[in-house]
Amino acid sequence: MRNAQPEPAQIPTSFGHELRACLRCRLVKTYDQFREHGCENCPFFDMNDDNERIVDCTTPNFNGIISVMDPSRSWAARWLRIAKFVPGCYTLAVSETLSEDMKNMCEDAQMQYVPPKRV
Ligand SMILES: [Zn+2]
Repeated sequence: MRNAQPEPAQIPTSFGHELRACLRCRLVKTYDQFREHGCENCPFFDMNDDNERIVDCTTPNFNGIISVMDPSRSWAARWLRIAKFVPGCYTLAVSETLSEDMKNMCEDAQMQYVPPKRV
């Protein structure tokens, strides 16, 4: 028996400048959504109600959004290396990397972090 499909991430409720992308998994949501529910893929970041943490772990600077409803079967999701993440909206690329503190947090939680490639 396989586990049931993961719960999809929240879909952004608006597409203005309050949109932010998680620096680890590139999930795109609004600032308020990250504040209320954190990141569905990275709960160990503990962003709920922590404005500073949200700023540390997400960025408003990203290019392009795709929505992935079935990451395990989407070639785009495999290409973006988000196949193991929950369905949701993702950005194609972020240029910023996590701070050392946040990288250590990934390590402590034994969550893989793949920094963006340097251009
Ligand atoms: Zn995330």
